[in-house]
Amino acid sequence: MSELLDGVPWRGAIYSGGWVPAHGGVLDSVEPATGAVLAEVGLADEADVAAATARAAAAQPGWAAAIGPERAAVLRRAAAVLSDNRAEFERWLVREGGAVPGKAAFEVDLALGELWEAAALPTQPWGHLLPASEPGRESVARRVPLGVVGVISPWNFPLILSIRAVAPALALGNAVVLKPDVQTAVSGGTLVARLFEAAGLPDGLLHVLPGDAGPGAALTVDPHVAMIAFTGSTAVGREVGAAAGRALKRVSLELGGNNALIVLDDADLDVASSAGAWGAFLHQGQVCMTAGRHIVLESVAEEYLGRLAKRAQGLPVGDPYTGQVALGPLINERQRDHVDRIVRETVAAGAEVRAGGTHEGLFYRPTVLADVTPSMPAFREEIFGPVAPVVVVRDEDEAVAVANDTAYGLVAAVQTGSPERGRELAGRLRTGIVHINDQTLNNDAYAPFGGTGVSGNGSRFGTQSSWDEFTQWQWVTFREQAHAFPF
Ligand code: NAD
Repeated sequence: MSELLDGVPWRGAIYSGGWVPAHGGVLDSVEPATGAVLAEVGLADEADVAAATARAAAAQPGWAAAIGPERAAVLRRAAAVLSDNRAEFERWLVREGGAVPGKAAFEVDLALGELWEAAALPTQPWGHLLPASEPGRESVARRVPLGVVGVISPWNFPLILSIRAVAPALALGNAVVLKPDVQTAVSGGTLVARLFEAAGLPDGLLHVLPGDAGPGAALTVDPHVAMIAFTGSTAVGREVGAAAGRALKRVSLELGGNNALIVLDDADLDVASSAGAWGAFLHQGQVCMTAGRHIVLESVAEEYLGRLAKRAQGLPVGDPYTGQVALGPLINERQRDHVDRIVRETVAAGAEVRAGGTHEGLFYRPTVLADVTPSMPAFREEIFGPVAPVVVVRDEDEAVAVANDTAYGLVAAVQTGSPERGRELAGRLRTGIVHINDQTLNNDAYAPFGGTGVSGNGSRFGTQSSWDEFTQWQWVTFREQAHAFPF
């Protein structure tokens, strides 16, 4: 069967007004599980960014003027192309990103949801008729596109974290310049370009420029770019936010998390430990929504720990492309060393390893740490690895205080036999998202997604929120006839 990347001269090229030579060099796309080279990806430099944003700015007004159904049709075709070619997307997510097949399928489903929701945006009402301030005067507030939107995405969920900004931004009449992370340049970039190219998006409206901090920083301050939609670490988000602020651009920051899973004393511990294992270990814990702090009431703590450790010990780790595994590799050695350093330092500070704590190459065993206290590194830092630190608390009040004892504020989850107790607790948690009787990893294309504190600036993706993010209001008045003024 032919594939989307077949016959397209994308190797060593970038998508910027067709497939053109990249000026930032060529990078090997490496499979983390094996070290095999999968492809040679073209890297953009700062001049490529400037050329792309200028082209995007020139193409955008025509697209903004297109009728809503025309824009919607492109988004619907993109969804159809993704659906028809999902096996190819999933294979790249597995091999390039180290995802297990279930995570890859989940990610494609999420991306489809984003495209379907985005396809519905262009035909929704786009303004209000306002009360007239004088007889005969018509006054409207209407949503207009921003112009060129710069999207900067990370490697951990590369497809969805590119698409969730690219799709609504395009649907609402913007042009987009996407800079995916170089480690997943194909699944977060090249394939996104091919998707929209095959869907018939008019030329010049989407540019895909893999690259590192240089082109990312250039995109952030580029005068043709009206908004930056950034997903990545808090440290880089601070820099991007500061640079975008100085340039007076709109900026959406979706950053790191250090998320609490609270287990109350009336929880079903079999279910709670399963939620805990899923929340902590899916995609090797490399998710912004990972359950990085398990906060458990003391009367059930020992049983929760035992069940969680048993689940962790039973999870196979290995190459997700060739083996039946639950966890694949970490993305790179730097990330592996970061995870291992936090585990070592936390154990040195008095925590006990109940499962895992070891690794072979990039394959880190799912790890459960007991006797963790809020002063330890595994509690304070975003680990971004398959580690479940368990903190024991006396009661609900202490659980809330410990959960809120972080500068992050992305998501929290509560396990309890009493939904009312969970609902009450949800109101006391300082996060952008709370799930009761669930785990922390959830994403609906039509729900507002975003964090507080150092997890981001409170921006949101998701249907109505996408209007707020990717358009701005314009007040327009009409009179049949102009009239004179006192001067
Ligand atoms: P990162 O911040 O290192 O990189 C993210 C992106 O920013 C990459 O494309 C990178 O090339 C680019 N970049 C790096 N320096 C830049 C600069 N100076 N200017 C502009 N762009 C620059 O993050 P990462 O390690 O790739 O991703 C992991 C982090 O992302 C974690 O902290 C995770 O929690 C967070 N994340 C957040 C969400 C969310 O929705 N809140 C989702 C996924 C990941």
